[in-house]
Amino acid sequence: STPGGPKVCEEKIRVTVRVRPLNRKEQAMYDLIAWDCTDEHTIVFKNPNHERPTAPYTFDKVFGPTCSNLMVYEEGAKDVALSVLTGINATIFAYGQTSSGKTFTMRGITDNAVKDIYEHIKNTTERDFVLKLSALEIYNETVVDLLNRESGSLRLLDDPEKGTIVEKLVEEVVKDSQHLRHLICICEAQRQVGETALNDKSSRSHQIIRLTIESSLRDNSGCVKSFIASLNLVDLAGSERASQTNADGTRLKEGSHINRSLLTLTTVIRKLSGGKRIDHIPYRDSKLTRILRPSLGGNARTAIICTVSPGLSHVEQSRNTLSFATSAK
Ligand code: ADP
Ligand code: MG
Repeated sequence: STPGGPKVCEEKIRVTVRVRPLNRKEQAMYDLIAWDCTDEHTIVFKNPNHERPTAPYTFDKVFGPTCSNLMVYEEGAKDVALSVLTGINATIFAYGQTSSGKTFTMRGITDNAVKDIYEHIKNTTERDFVLKLSALEIYNETVVDLLNRESGSLRLLDDPEKGTIVEKLVEEVVKDSQHLRHLICICEAQRQVGETALNDKSSRSHQIIRLTIESSLRDNSGCVKSFIASLNLVDLAGSERASQTNADGTRLKEGSHINRSLLTLTTVIRKLSGGKRIDHIPYRDSKLTRILRPSLGGNARTAIICTVSPGLSHVEQSRNTLSFATSAK
C-alpha cells in the first residue's frame, strides 16, 4: 500500500464474533447470560446450571457485550472495507440468528466505512474518484432493486466479461457523503416494504448494499491509471434458515425453512476457508452467491462478523453460529 494510504488487509477471510447485551425482554423473562468472553480471543459457555465445563471457542477477535460499533468496525471490518480504495473487491457480512444483532452491527459498519472512505477521498487530491451505489434484496430467490422497487423481479444475466450482472439494477452516482447516507436510508425504508404482510420477512431476506468505486490517476506523462472495485455490505437472513438439523441433531424435512442463498453462502465460505485443496465452489447454486462471486474468494477480501444472542434460551442457535464461525476461519 502507499504510505499514508489505507492499510491493506492481508488475510482473505477475517472472522470475528460479537455477543450483544441481554435486552429488556430477555431480562424480564429472567433469561440468563450463557456466554463468557474471557479475553479478546475467547468465548466459552458459562454453565449457568453448573454442568461440566465445555471447550472454549477461540477467534482472532471476540467482541463482548460492552464493545461499541466503532470497536467492531475498527477491529473487525475496517481494513477489509478500505481495501476497496486500492482496487480490491470486498464483502462484509453479519451472520447469526434473528435478533442476534446483524442489522445493528451492519449499520455501524456501514456508517463508519462511509465516513472513512470520504475522509480518504478528501485526502487523496491527486486521484479522481467516482462512487456509485446500488442496493438489492433477495427474498425467496427473487431479486428486487431497493432503489427502484417498481422494476419488480430482476433477472441475473451471465456476461462473458463482467460475470453475473443484475439486469436493470439502478446504479446511482453518489454526489457526496450526505447523498450516500440519504440513499442508504431509502434502501432501509424500502426493505421494510411487505414486512407486516409477511411477518418474518426480515428473517428470510438478504440485503446487499454495493458501493462501487472508480478511481483514476493522471501521472506526469499524462498517462491515466485507473481501477474499479466494489464493497458489498450484506445484511443476511437469520442463520436459523441455514440449519439443516434440529436441536437434537435430526435432519429437518426439506421445505420453506431452508434458505437456499444462505445455505449456499455457508458452503462457499467453508470451501474457501478449507485450505489448499482446490475444490468445486458452488457459487452458481444461489442468487446471493452468483451476485457476490467477484467479491468472494479469488483476490477479494471478506469480513464475517458472527453475532450471538447472549441468553441461555438461545444457546442451541448460538452454538450453531459459533460452529459456522469456526469452520469459516
Ligand atoms: P438481527 O438483525 O440479527 O435480527 P437486530 O440488529 O435487529 O438483530 O438486533 C435486535 C435488537 O437488539 C435490536 O433492538 C437492536 O437494536 C438490539 N441490539 C443488537 N445488538 C446490540 C448491541 N451490540 N448493543 C445494544 N443493542 C443491540
Ligand atoms: Mg435484521
